[in-house]
Amino acid sequence: MKAAVLYTFNEDLVIEDVPIADPGDREVLVRIIATGVCHSDLSAAKGKSRPKLPVILGHEAAGIVERTGSAVSKVKKGDHVILSWAPNCGECFYCHKRLPTMCDTYGDAAGGNTLWNGALRLGSAKKPVNHFTCVSSFAELAVVPEAGCSRIEHDIPFEVAALVGCAVTTGFGAVVNDARVEPGEIVGVIGVGGVGINAIHAASVAGAEAVVAIDINPEKEAVARSFGATHFLNSATQDVTAELKALSRGRGPDSIIDCTGRPAAIALAYDSVRLGGSVISVGIAAKGEMVSLPASTLPNTQRRIIGSNYGGGVPERDFERILGLYRAGRFDLDRQVGARVPLEQINEAFRWLEQGVLARTLVCFDR
Ligand SMILES: [Zn+2]
Ligand SMILES: [Zn+2]
Repeated sequence: MKAAVLYTFNEDLVIEDVPIADPGDREVLVRIIATGVCHSDLSAAKGKSRPKLPVILGHEAAGIVERTGSAVSKVKKGDHVILSWAPNCGECFYCHKRLPTMCDTYGDAAGGNTLWNGALRLGSAKKPVNHFTCVSSFAELAVVPEAGCSRIEHDIPFEVAALVGCAVTTGFGAVVNDARVEPGEIVGVIGVGGVGINAIHAASVAGAEAVVAIDINPEKEAVARSFGATHFLNSATQDVTAELKALSRGRGPDSIIDCTGRPAAIALAYDSVRLGGSVISVGIAAKGEMVSLPASTLPNTQRRIIGSNYGGGVPERDFERILGLYRAGRFDLDRQVGARVPLEQINEAFRWLEQGVLARTLVCFDR
């Protein structure tokens, strides 16, 4: 199959033919149709998250089941599927604790750049290629665990389904599962990117009184407002904490979602949220970065800092909720689909993402 392989951090991906093995008993071979180019791919390519090399990146994807392993019952050939980068087994300690994105069975696999059973299905014995989060979708085909396949209806466009596989669910879930935004609340969202847009949109759909988008790039204001932001603050030029207080009757927002992972943004969110309010930390900081907070305020403000991974819920359940809202015309995913490019243009897509191009670029394959 044709794939984009990362051999060296900070260098272009190499488009080449890579052998792919048959799926194991509980694995599925999927023909990738669309895959988004996400910040976590960029962080890996830049060496910030340091996957094992060589590796095929790509984790926000949808496609068609091509072949299934002998013990697979969840999907069959021809099914349209969203791939999940956090498959869950339903049987381990964390699955029983209702934290399926922390699943013991698959968590190690995603971190270790193999499939869940330690297997490698990419490359040859002589020249193995590593997996990325059990997906590796910057390729024509992927072998994934059965647990990482979610069947979807055929009326859902593949580009839309791909985005639901990461950015949409992450932003939506941060608002619905972690901030638990209620009608009439005031919500701040720091970072108007692929995830931030969805946090803004979800807060608006959830009935927030005000949704305040915060970014350093003034060009993000129009897109933020088009997805439901009622206000826009520029954190490079404005006193965000003071402005947020002024917008919330002097108290501060009920919750602030940080989609940047920048320590200063997390501290800003903590300083700005109301007493007892929640800071939802979604954006991923570079390894080793620290956040500094005024410790004496932790007990007496009762503010909460909540880490949010993949939307903090049950990804497969949330895919269905989001696609239900999409089908009802209440959650706009079509406008989130930006340029569609062939795999050969993936390195350009990475550069657009770095430059903060507004809509998501998708790598698309012919059906
Ligand atoms: Zn992602
Ligand atoms: Zn589990």
